[in-house]
Amino acid sequence: MLLRARTLLSVRAGPIDDGAVWIEDGCIQAAGHWPDVGRIAHGPAVDLGEVIVHPGWVNAHCHLDLTELAGQLAPPKSFSGWIKSLLTAKSDWSFSEFALSWLKGAEQLVRSGTTTVANIESVPEMLADVRACTPLRVWSLLELTGVRRQRDPAQLLQAALEILDRLPIRRGGVGLSPHAPYSTPPALLGLAAEAARQRHWPITTHIAESTEEFEMFVRRTGPMYDWLAAQRSMDDCGLGSPLAHCSRHGLLSPSLLIAHANLLWRNDVEILARSGASVVHCPQSHDYFRHPRFPLPELIAAGINVCLGTDSLASTRKLGRRRPTLSMTDEFRSFNSHNTGLSPAETLTLATRNGARALGVAGSAGELSPGAWADLAVIPYSGPLAAAEEATMDHHGDVLATLIDGRWEWQAPGYDLPRPIGH
Ligand SMILES: [Zn+2]
Repeated sequence: MLLRARTLLSVRAGPIDDGAVWIEDGCIQAAGHWPDVGRIAHGPAVDLGEVIVHPGWVNAHCHLDLTELAGQLAPPKSFSGWIKSLLTAKSDWSFSEFALSWLKGAEQLVRSGTTTVANIESVPEMLADVRACTPLRVWSLLELTGVRRQRDPAQLLQAALEILDRLPIRRGGVGLSPHAPYSTPPALLGLAAEAARQRHWPITTHIAESTEEFEMFVRRTGPMYDWLAAQRSMDDCGLGSPLAHCSRHGLLSPSLLIAHANLLWRNDVEILARSGASVVHCPQSHDYFRHPRFPLPELIAAGINVCLGTDSLASTRKLGRRRPTLSMTDEFRSFNSHNTGLSPAETLTLATRNGARALGVAGSAGELSPGAWADLAVIPYSGPLAAAEEATMDHHGDVLATLIDGRWEWQAPGYDLPRPIGH
């Protein structure tokens, strides 16, 4: 397959005028200027015309199974109050309701140009079925908690590993997700990290998301401390920050994706930088909770790999009357509404190459370059080359088309791909 486009965003280099991508067997063979790529490529060309072709987004933190809760939970007064209302809202859902919610979220991502997602899986029973029904590259990171179940951490982990080892993997991968330091026994953090290391799996966890979590670990006080004191030992509180707690229990490594990291303390940034772990910022979720400022400049200055994620629609505000949908360009809009200090090119990298690096697939996802998977999206564009990166982030709604593994998996209603012609 040979695609020609007015503008090509490889993300590895700047935007290219009159660009082309040559794809064979689901992989990109060449990407660059049309005359150069057209000369070496075989077969007919599809001229997409006045469009931008960009790499599929890499969403580094999502909860697909909560999609049906879009706009259902009003922004809360307290973070622990939100967790309680979330648990109540999904308490009577059947497996098939979770599955439909998951699939709806996966479809929203494909329609809006995401091709890879790191997804937290809380309902393993439906996992094989839903994964088989989406073209997305899903890394299914199985959630582990231990507060309510009071089970032995080794047994909890063993049960999770048995589920994941049995799961058929056609595309994407699996990994583990100890939920958060306040909800996961310390022993389970270390055991999960060790198991992920042995299997070369990514691992993710929510760390230092809310002020309440920070107060619980640092000062042994606050609503979360009071709530959880009846359910778990609080001996691990009062010893330092949530991040220091996770570091002490062996969780930090280059294969760890830390969701949020909104509240860092003392030498947390240094610890993070030394560990090689990635941080995933979820701009709309951050705005929903009105968390303290995300320490983006400090993380970037320390060389930490920062990615972007959507989080779930249970923590996304309604836009007017419209129920929110999962979309990385909506995350860009929220992200860019703050003074980030990043250029458009740098911002695009957070949602592409950085996410790929965090998942251990640098060079394969999040860029249009030789050897990368043929995962891309097409949006209409006839503006100047210099404004193409901003226009890509500003794109609203569905993309025209999404290609995953070299196959067109989404085409907007009414959009017909041009017919291939000889070149
Ligand atoms: Zn999350």
